[in-house]
Amino acid sequence: MAKPVVAIVGRPNVGKSTIFNRIIGDRLAIVEDKPGVTRDRIYGSGEWGGKPFNIIDTGGIEIDGVDEILRSIRMQAELAIEEADVIVFMCDAKSGVVQADEEVAQILYRSGKPVIVAVNKVDNLNRMDDIYEFYSFGFGDPIAISGSHGTGIGDLLDAVIENLPEPKDDEYDEDVIKVALIGRPNVGKSSLVNAILGEERVIVSSIAGTTRDAVDTPFEKDGQKYVIIDTAGMRKRGKVYETTEKYSVMRSLKAIERADVVLVVINGEEGIIEQDKHIAGYAHEAGKATLFVINKWDAVEKDDRTMQEFEQSIRDHFLFMSYAPIVFLSAKTKQRLHKLIPVIQHVAEQHSKRISTHLLNDVVSDAVAYNPPPTDKGRRLRINYVTQVSVKPPTLVIFVNDPELMHFSYERYLENRIRASFDFEGTPIRLFTRRKS
Ligand code: GDP
Ligand code: GDP
Repeated sequence: MAKPVVAIVGRPNVGKSTIFNRIIGDRLAIVEDKPGVTRDRIYGSGEWGGKPFNIIDTGGIEIDGVDEILRSIRMQAELAIEEADVIVFMCDAKSGVVQADEEVAQILYRSGKPVIVAVNKVDNLNRMDDIYEFYSFGFGDPIAISGSHGTGIGDLLDAVIENLPEPKDDEYDEDVIKVALIGRPNVGKSSLVNAILGEERVIVSSIAGTTRDAVDTPFEKDGQKYVIIDTAGMRKRGKVYETTEKYSVMRSLKAIERADVVLVVINGEEGIIEQDKHIAGYAHEAGKATLFVINKWDAVEKDDRTMQEFEQSIRDHFLFMSYAPIVFLSAKTKQRLHKLIPVIQHVAEQHSKRISTHLLNDVVSDAVAYNPPPTDKGRRLRINYVTQVSVKPPTLVIFVNDPELMHFSYERYLENRIRASFDFEGTPIRLFTRRKS
């Protein structure tokens, strides 16, 4: 299910990224504290009162070729309006209302979206008077917060979730494999979609997805139903869209959110760049099955080691995603294209696979017997049992005598042993450790 989107807007230095990090902070700590996942993010997930949402820090969106601050703020606000279901308009109590705030407010008036005014840097509750002038925007009660102290953020999130739209039902049946293609412009995503659809039976012609950002095309192959979510297929006419590469990242993130399997498309002629890492990291965090597609392989000058070297470079760049298979192909010549759908089907299967508690415990006890957990200050981790609690991605809970004793390296060891026994190719696995003696 696609999560609603919350955007933080406001002029520079009011504290947007501070608050953003506070909101996504907790979840990050639980889900991903592993090396290799980028930290300088502008897009993350949060949850409050049991309601999940995605959140964008628009201040982190650089608009290419625009260095004039005011124009840049305006464009960020426009993007926020396009993308968001709820907008947090952040201001600074210390400076009061300034001209740039008025500019942002003007843009937000026209949006018709719910706007919540958050007045940051109210570090001292005796300074509550400072927020009154922010009523003048007419967006309702401003909420006093302090990014430094973490105060008021609960009130802010209460207001946010009160304004979130009702979640939409899943658009497709459970057994349909939803595939998103992501990657930078010109790597060949559209060509690849056309190549795939040229070979397979398209059930109905393309339909605009529920978001305006992607085109969905259902097709069927060997009795299995698929939907391709194509972000490139719908090039936007708007000026803003083409000028900011980071914006296309946001579009991709929404597609990832809706997908089961993410194809990270890379131009074989160019290799990997930072942005590919960013986006693949997001697919990993979102718990999606992933595979790397190295396109334009026809245009690459090769010898007998080229493929191996490329593979190694992917493994070096995406250390945390060693589970993801790599497919080399050419959308143009259709070379190796026939390999793609079977791999997609395979990783989708792994992504939704359930292992019985009995089998899991056999594997984990063997792993423990072979390599017992190290002691920590004289105490040793004891694993009582392991059970799989959900799929998409496979999520396992390990019950132990004391979760503090579970170290990252041992967890990684267990994950490797579990993968060695049950495949799980292409899918992240989530492991949680809970106390139970
Ligand atoms: P952004 O440009 O809107 O993303 O703002 P930042 O989050 O980068 O914050 C700008 C500056 O304000 C930084 O120096 C922060 O440490 C500071 N800041 C953020 N929140 C608070 C706050 O609640 N109180 C005070 N006094 N400073 C804050
Ligand atoms: P997108 O922006 O990622 O959707 O990329 P396009 O599908 O529009 O392709 C960008 C350019 O790369 C076009 O000129 C395509 O003809 C070319 N292209 C796409 N796939 C291949 C391929 O497999 N081999 C070669 N040589 N060129 C390709």
